[in-house]
Amino acid sequence: MENLRQRFNSKRFAKQYHYNGALGAVCSSEGTTFRLWAPTAVSVELRLYQKGHGVSPYFQTALSRQGRGVWVWSSPQNLDGVYYDYVVTAQGVSRETADPYARACGLNGSRSMVIDLFRTNPKGWERDVPPARQPEDIIYELHVREFSWAESGGFPKKVRGKYKAFCCTDTTLHNDGAHPTGIGWIKQLGVTHVQLMPVFDYASVDEENPEGSFNWGYDPLNYNIPEGSYSTDPTRGEVRIREFKEMVQSLHQNGFRVVMDVVYNHTYHRDSWLERTVPGYYYRQYPDGRISDGSGCGNDIASERSMCAKYILDSVLYWAEEYHIDGFRFDLMGLLDTQLMETIRKELDARWGRGEKLVYGEPWTAWETSMARGFQQADKKHLAGMDPEIGAFCDGVRDGIKGSVMDAASRGFVNGGRRKENEIFHSISGWCGKHRRFSAAAPSQVINYLSCHDDMTVWDKLVFTLDPQKQYDVFSPQVLRANRLAAAICFTCQGRLFLLSGEEFGRTKEGEANTYCASITLNRLDWERAWQNRELAEYYQGLFALRKTLPALCDKSGTAWERILQQEILRPGCVQVLLDNTGGSYRQILLVYNASQTPQPLLLEDGWFLLADGENSFLWQEEHPVSQLKAEPVSVVILGKK
Ligand code: CA
Repeated sequence: MENLRQRFNSKRFAKQYHYNGALGAVCSSEGTTFRLWAPTAVSVELRLYQKGHGVSPYFQTALSRQGRGVWVWSSPQNLDGVYYDYVVTAQGVSRETADPYARACGLNGSRSMVIDLFRTNPKGWERDVPPARQPEDIIYELHVREFSWAESGGFPKKVRGKYKAFCCTDTTLHNDGAHPTGIGWIKQLGVTHVQLMPVFDYASVDEENPEGSFNWGYDPLNYNIPEGSYSTDPTRGEVRIREFKEMVQSLHQNGFRVVMDVVYNHTYHRDSWLERTVPGYYYRQYPDGRISDGSGCGNDIASERSMCAKYILDSVLYWAEEYHIDGFRFDLMGLLDTQLMETIRKELDARWGRGEKLVYGEPWTAWETSMARGFQQADKKHLAGMDPEIGAFCDGVRDGIKGSVMDAASRGFVNGGRRKENEIFHSISGWCGKHRRFSAAAPSQVINYLSCHDDMTVWDKLVFTLDPQKQYDVFSPQVLRANRLAAAICFTCQGRLFLLSGEEFGRTKEGEANTYCASITLNRLDWERAWQNRELAEYYQGLFALRKTLPALCDKSGTAWERILQQEILRPGCVQVLLDNTGGSYRQILLVYNASQTPQPLLLEDGWFLLADGENSFLWQEEHPVSQLKAEPVSVVILGKK
């Protein structure tokens, strides 16, 4: 007898049961229809409730089975606002479950809700459009709660930690009216995209008591519903939806595109709505029946099975369409298959234009996974073979510059690591071509970054490797220098740019590498620190503004590497790179990264202008002709030639 794995991986199963239509509950003035795909079920019961939690069902009925394993029940009434769940009987067991396709839910997401989405639209939503694309994509990673939790941010108490904080656009440090925090701060920085850490409904924070715990939220419960603990009322299903849309609208109005962090590779636990609806179908097994655990979270979603692929694709398109999301960051993308990623790319392009919606992810897994034969993992190995508008985080840049994230004590180019020069050269060209650690087809596939929510912050890594006392709260000139050099290198590499919120002001988590469920006081953005370390933030700001003017660096084409005219190791720890900047106001640019402790004299012919150095990234705003100068120890020189 064939096992579940063979059955669900078989073409025969897909041929018999693949269903292309819409699923979930849809209501209108003409009535309401419930559709659930449950091909292995022998019966499905629908239960309706007046409330999202507690209370008994006021109505119960059986759905009828139609073609392709879809169960249906229709009512002539508009059931907008009614809560519901199912009892699915399959393989001899009856399981209560919320609707995996639900678009609204009650408290803690355990009961689904019928919703007329039109009434969740904020004023002016039909006119909401993202800001125009800039010459470079610079992505800023934010956690909703971390963003506005600190009292120093000056947010009204009732919106702290909530979606609504993103609608407060003129907050200042302790309400002093002079020093912008929140949206105002990020606007000054010059980033173009805000990437929100999980904002779909996740399970780990009790929505009845959001202050009781903190979590990053990589534990999906309802894929197509906003998280409730960030709303002002998680008990009323429509509130989180409206407040989420208001957040997106405000971010758009303030000049940011919005990227969502999506976690389709695993669920909170294996006993999910998907599992309860079609036991065994949505998760990978090994041939011997063991559960595949490449996520390290106890389950891997079987993205290669046709209805699972459809589920993920539908979800992505839904967020893009209904919530106006501008891009998707795929958690552990290496657990998804290349075919699905290509389909997602094509479908987004068909609706919104080529490359308009960003698609990128982590090109790795935690452990090995048991993907069905004939499919390829969307990982580093297969990156260059995928669509050039499918991107991946580049650990080569991250680790080459400041040392491996796997070992706190390891050093990179800026903090005393040896023989890192070639890694820096590879990074400049976006790792295009064949490289052992990373290789991309074009810089459009490369997300350059020094830090994200995972692992030590840049500041902590540099303090750990440079300061024997490990004083995370002291802004030592040595660490600041190394931080500026690290940023200058990372943000002058070809590829897209990414940073963890607060990296620009020396964000610290006191050396902690994994704070996913640590206290909010450790995780929150510290707006006092932001202003104490304002000069570092200004240095980032200047780099971003300069970057946007340099086609040599912004070029995303597969031939961008041809702009690199010359690269040279001037001494151990000191390199220079000459680039063709055709299309910009300078013909050529010269990057000199001096991580050594010795000043490096530079002899230049006529016509060079100093654009930035290790102290000031705004020199390009005025003309600074130079003929000879030194690259100071642990610092950068960026020059342009007319
Ligand atoms: Ca939740």
